[in-house]
Amino acid sequence: MECISIFDMLKIGVGPSSSHTLGPWRAGRRWIAELKKNNNFESVTSITVDLFGSLSLTGKGHATDIAVILGLCGYDPQTIDVSSISSIVEYITFSKQLKFNNEFSVSFDPATQIIFNREFKDFHPNGMTFHATLKDNQKVSSSFYSIGGGFVVKEERKRKEKKLEAFECFPLPIQKATDLLAYCINDTKKVSDIVLENERSLHSDQEIDERIAQIWKVMLESMYTGCHTEGTLPGGLNVRRRAFDTHKKLIGDTRYNSPEEWIEAIRNTEVKFRQILKWVSCFALAVNEVNASLGRVVTAPTNGSAGVIPAVMMYYMVIENHDANFDDVKQFMLVAGEIGSLFKKGATISAAMGGCQAEIGVSSAMAAGALTELMGGTPEQVLMASEIAMEHHLGLTCDPIGGLVQVPCIERNAMGAIKAINACEMALDTDAANAKVPLDKVIETMWETAQDMNTKYKETSEGGLAIKVSLSDC
Ligand code: SF4
Repeated sequence: MECISIFDMLKIGVGPSSSHTLGPWRAGRRWIAELKKNNNFESVTSITVDLFGSLSLTGKGHATDIAVILGLCGYDPQTIDVSSISSIVEYITFSKQLKFNNEFSVSFDPATQIIFNREFKDFHPNGMTFHATLKDNQKVSSSFYSIGGGFVVKEERKRKEKKLEAFECFPLPIQKATDLLAYCINDTKKVSDIVLENERSLHSDQEIDERIAQIWKVMLESMYTGCHTEGTLPGGLNVRRRAFDTHKKLIGDTRYNSPEEWIEAIRNTEVKFRQILKWVSCFALAVNEVNASLGRVVTAPTNGSAGVIPAVMMYYMVIENHDANFDDVKQFMLVAGEIGSLFKKGATISAAMGGCQAEIGVSSAMAAGALTELMGGTPEQVLMASEIAMEHHLGLTCDPIGGLVQVPCIERNAMGAIKAINACEMALDTDAANAKVPLDKVIETMWETAQDMNTKYKETSEGGLAIKVSLSDC
């Protein structure tokens, strides 16, 4: 039993990966807090970090080493100036000195003090252990696991206790889609009403609105930045940014000066039928190009799949409903967050556990359900749309070329967004009471598929596209 806030599912962070970048970054900060709590922090004289399993196998391409460094320096992924990241890392690499939590210097050579181990830890494929030597030569170590979507846990026993405690905090506890639907039917309420009631037990109305507004601001800015930035993505694959060119062709000579004016400009552009798919793809590609270049995005539910939800929300704003405003954004995020949490509780949102069905599949299901509510669907149709979106991502593997969150990841966001819109349309045209596959069944199936999936397709870059094309081919 677990209670998960929508703000756990939608987190502001830095690309390219929630499990391999945001998670290790947050783990570094949590380790510092732990050292402080045990009165060891000020005695630290040297640090080493062991990365295990998937964090090691795709860690270089996913910037795990950079994330660890930034976490140890005490930077906050929500607020760091992303344009400063490369100079911070270059300085530490060159000087071999790191300012621990921005308080005092310790010698730190990333090349030798971040160790990439191929073996996997039992608890989760994304394991890491931080080690410190203290002034009296005592050694202390602490292990963390990055379990997807930027979530970090220490160990199963403590996590179980926490889950139990947390579950009791919601007035309307939800473990499965059937629980959510029962509340909606009993109280004749929308999915978003139920989710809001639970969020109100954690945050004030003002705080909920401010946090959703901040999430949307980052999503909108990431689409805007991606559509207005040309060039090649970093990492060595020489992937050309495509959102810039597509956007330029679609927007023409229209003028605007801010992301908000941009929305109006698109609304005023005559969108031909065949251009709708191009616009949606363009929004999704833009976010994931920003993500791939260590830019700021919202994990939704992960960084690799960060483009689907903004692209579908933007589709609603500029194609379906030109009067859409903050209330629609709020409703959309409440539903999307709740659907994502159902997958986290019943299956996984970690590609290292379940392949890309856990990232793009889940984001597509989140967006499909949220769009369906905005389009006037019943709660049954909301859940059906999510089920359809996931059903057609089941078994999707994770095999990023060069371990970079670029190919196939960026295009997959466009495909996930389009499938979400299609799933919504199909659910709206169906009597959902006669659905053959309930959402809970598809979540169960996804989890079983995740367990059966060969490890090489779970974010290791040891199978699929990752071994057909190498960095040297590019
Ligand atoms: S293939 Fe999918 S799961 Fe794997 S890194 Fe890319 S987006 Fe994430």
